[in-house]
Amino acid sequence: MKKSIILIDKKLKKHFSTPFKANNSPQPLDMLIATILSQNTNDQNSFKAYQNLKKYFNNWEEVKNSDTNIIEDKIRIAGLGAQKACTIKNLLDELYKDGKNYSLSNLSKLNNEKSIQYLTQFKGVGVKTASCVLLFSLNKNICPVDTHVHRTLNRIGLVKTNSPDKTFFEINKNFPPKISHSFHTNLIRLGREICKPKNYKCSICPLLEVCEFNNKNFEINKKSKQQSFMLLDNI
Ligand code: SF4
Repeated sequence: MKKSIILIDKKLKKHFSTPFKANNSPQPLDMLIATILSQNTNDQNSFKAYQNLKKYFNNWEEVKNSDTNIIEDKIRIAGLGAQKACTIKNLLDELYKDGKNYSLSNLSKLNNEKSIQYLTQFKGVGVKTASCVLLFSLNKNICPVDTHVHRTLNRIGLVKTNSPDKTFFEINKNFPPKISHSFHTNLIRLGREICKPKNYKCSICPLLEVCEFNNKNFEINKKSKQQSFMLLDNI
């Protein structure tokens, strides 16, 4: 598994290059809220919703003390506004009760497993959201698994699982150091541009040689649209 991950990472970097990573890591709570906003929408819309929140409120305490309807209004563009506003409010209330730990500074002292356990105790925060905070904010060696990462890794044959969370636990048992950001980010690009759910394009895929998928598609398709904007690298 470890060797295959390294090989796939190498091939993806050759094809897409090493993905952009901001020099300054965002605060864990900023990242957590941005990731909640990104659920079930595209990166552009969740980025706008995040910017709206940051422009309207001076800090997260103001968000906690605000009316849920106002939060919903500011994040409407990201979809599921009412649900996401409740998740954010509930999270901030719980963190406040937990000793105003808005910095989530306790996370840097915990290992990945304990950090995931801590974050997923909050309603609306799943394994993917928690692992994004660890990777993008705390620079931990961890590879979050969304629907693209789950689908592509199953097609390639690296895992045989039936849910993103199972794929996550499978590949993170012993993830090779230093490549989790590039591996995760480039696999999402692969899933958005080439190894799409339907109409996937094996003829132009950089992983063709290593992919074990039985049902490859070699029809000639139009060139894929590049989708390289990644919300979590822009928080
Ligand atoms: S070869 Fe085809 S099925 Fe395999 S990863 Fe590439 S696009 Fe997906």
